[in-house]
Amino acid sequence: MKKTALITGISGQDGAYLAKFLLKKNYKIVGTDRRSARSVNWRLNRLGIANKIIYEEMELGELYEIQRVFKKYKFNEVYNLAAQSFVGTSFNSPLNTSNITALGCLRILETIRSQNKKIKFYQASSSEMFGDVLEKKQKETTPLNPQSPYAISKVFSHYLTQNYRKSYGLFATSGILFNHESPLRGEEFVTRKIIIGLIKIIKKDINYFELGNLYAKRDWGYAKEYVEAMWKMLQKDKPEDYVIATGKTYSIKDFINIATKYLKMDVKWVGKGLNEKLINIKTKKTIIRINPKFFRPAEVNVLIGDHKKAKKELKWKPKTNLNQLIKIMVDEEIKYYKNL
Ligand code: NDP
Ligand code: GDP
Repeated sequence: MKKTALITGISGQDGAYLAKFLLKKNYKIVGTDRRSARSVNWRLNRLGIANKIIYEEMELGELYEIQRVFKKYKFNEVYNLAAQSFVGTSFNSPLNTSNITALGCLRILETIRSQNKKIKFYQASSSEMFGDVLEKKQKETTPLNPQSPYAISKVFSHYLTQNYRKSYGLFATSGILFNHESPLRGEEFVTRKIIIGLIKIIKKDINYFELGNLYAKRDWGYAKEYVEAMWKMLQKDKPEDYVIATGKTYSIKDFINIATKYLKMDVKWVGKGLNEKLINIKTKKTIIRINPKFFRPAEVNVLIGDHKKAKKELKWKPKTNLNQLIKIMVDEEIKYYKNL
């Protein structure tokens, strides 16, 4: 029988890739968004699936809306991807972030507990929960040490998911996903911001752009592969938590160096600290400079994940390295430039 899945956050990067993946597996997809007027969005259009999804409005702050959607359909699987997902914004909007990213998960779990305990639940947990890391490589058992209202909200939802599994026997899983990027990534995240900025410079639409901390390191994977792990977690006999990562880490500066090389830009770094800049060697013009406004009040300096458990139990492993990921992102950005 055809399974029905609910994807909260259908308009986001992962929502789009997961919907595409589940449609191939013949699922009926109900996708929720906070504004149904915007429910056909550019990501789903890009993947050619916008007309294959049933849309419902479901603001995660509203318990009544969640209950209404759960009453209307018989869900087999629920993927909770909706969140205020940007760390930077969470420092300016801690209350909204907690309400959506933390309490939103509680509202869904309470709805499942009261309406249908058979529903399988996936919570989008994050490597940001490891924060100021307490182990060199982070795995499922690494202690959490969050550094932002976003990460603290994700910790709340992560523990809650474990608690509802234990207390009420729900099939509730938590995927601790390290940063994953793609041409569908939000423009405020550093990888896509860099790629868009570099292309705008090449096209002479801007002269320079600004970034924050160039020395933070992230374990970046390809979003399209990561959503497959979400599904695999819900196909297991027992609900458990899994780290999904590449096991490699690179700095923001490394990312820029790979991207500029691929774009054949003749550039070099000069200066130090706040005066560090990337300049065009020929024209001597600055193309990237530092603006402290992009520094985080508390930074997560380095993340690197250990996906051994997922490899063994889910038969999942990353296939795309950072060079390949940057190539995918750059090529598609150029293709759709000015036509987002
Ligand atoms: P996006 O920011 O692209 O998508 C977030 C989604 O949540 C959007 O559809 C957004 O809708 C929706 N949303 C935001 N606020 C609300 C609200 N109040 N009510 C209902 N929906 C809301 O995130 P990603 O797709 O990149 O990530 C998916 C999930 O995985 C998120 O929970 C994120 O925190 C988590 N995660 C992501 C990682 C990554 O590297 N991408 C790493 C680890 C975890 P709208 O379009 O209206 O804004
Ligand atoms: P995050 O890991 O979820 O916070 O993903 P981001 O892509 O937003 O940020 C990754 C890292 O890039 C963080 O350590 C940021 O401090 C760093 N960074 C440096 N400059 C910028 C910038 O201009 N924008 C963003 N978003 N991050 C930046």
